[in-house]
Amino acid sequence: MVEALESNLQDAGEFATCDRCNRNYEKGWSFAFKKPVPKGATDEGVIIKCSRCAIRHHPMLRRSLIVAFAVGTILTLLNQGDILFSGSWNSALYWKVPLTYCVPFCVATYGALSNSRR
Ligand SMILES: [Zn+2]
Repeated sequence: MVEALESNLQDAGEFATCDRCNRNYEKGWSFAFKKPVPKGATDEGVIIKCSRCAIRHHPMLRRSLIVAFAVGTILTLLNQGDILFSGSWNSALYWKVPLTYCVPFCVATYGALSNSRR
């Protein structure tokens, strides 16, 4: 009964299946990423992931970490550079500096997810 209902909903286009975990999810919560292509191959595929799998998409996370490192370093130097180079560290730096790296990571991840949302 439930399987028949899920099948009917999938036929109606209300649900789709994640390419990674084969879980059904509602439309609007799927994310399309480029499928990794072996060297020499010409066809580019697309892999569709549910939100749980998309948030753990390794190429996206790697790109977000690179952005976080670059932008976080620049922002830390701009905002805290005078304190860092003078050597007068205070305890607030222990939460300010990590938070400065978290912001570009979250922005890059959110941007990638919102661009790949279907
Ligand atoms: Zn999934």
